Amino acid sequence: MYLELKNLTVDFNGFLAVHDVNMGIEKGETRVIIGPNGAGKTTIIDMITGKTKPTKGQILLNGEDIAGKDSYDISNSYGIGRKFQGPNVFDEMSVYENLEVALCGHTSLWSAFTYRRTPEIYRQLNEILEQIDLTEQREMLPRFLSHGQRQWLEMGMILAQNPDIITLDEPAAGMTDDETFKTGEMIKSIMKDKTVIVVEHDMDFIKQIAKTVTVLNQGEILAEGTYDEVSHNAEVIRVYLKS
Ligand code: ADP
Repeated sequence: MYLELKNLTVDFNGFLAVHDVNMGIEKGETRVIIGPNGAGKTTIIDMITGKTKPTKGQILLNGEDIAGKDSYDISNSYGIGRKFQGPNVFDEMSVYENLEVALCGHTSLWSAFTYRRTPEIYRQLNEILEQIDLTEQREMLPRFLSHGQRQWLEMGMILAQNPDIITLDEPAAGMTDDETFKTGEMIKSIMKDKTVIVVEHDMDFIKQIAKTVTVLNQGEILAEGTYDEVSHNAEVIRVYLKS
């Protein structure tokens, strides 16, 4: 197994936000985590990306335990990238410059200045612009983009850093139906070689992208299976889908 969570647990002052979670994710898989608010979904992503240290358990990446390593190390040495819920872009830089900084300067801001721009770098930046459908907007400042376009810019910035694993926290939040669908198609095409972990609520979107869905409730796994399996599971319907 490529990424394996073993008995992953976090105790916030006596409150078990995540309790003995076991999950196996294959390389190249897109896994969606769903569940009611407070189920522990974001906390799991926080532990995988090094923001929160588990109290107990392991996070095995190709067999190596990365639990408790700091977020800088996880992103730069272990290739795990993260997209937060809100857009995190540089407001005073154009779309193109944002991508350029992500590609050339992700190890340190200094490297953004010293990184050698080869023709290959420019080719990659233009390719990413096409993939996130922002070629026409390349000179724009992010504030002139639509909400969806800003989210795609950030997806492009993560891609520019070339991680092996990408975690996305509610990538379709606040999007129109068309933008949501387009985001799903982007994840399926431009992230097809990546391992992608998505926290999401929108069931149509989940159906569009997921092979396996893990359902969390009160810090524990309630169900796991294909979209059809979990969406027909009586317990999942009771605690989540009907709420
Ligand atoms: P979800 O993403 O499924 O909505 P979270 O992972 O954000 O849920 O939170 C799970 C539970 O853990 C919630 O009850 C939340 O209030 C609690 N929690 C999250 N982070 C902390 C923290 N740093 N300290 C104390 N409690 C926390």
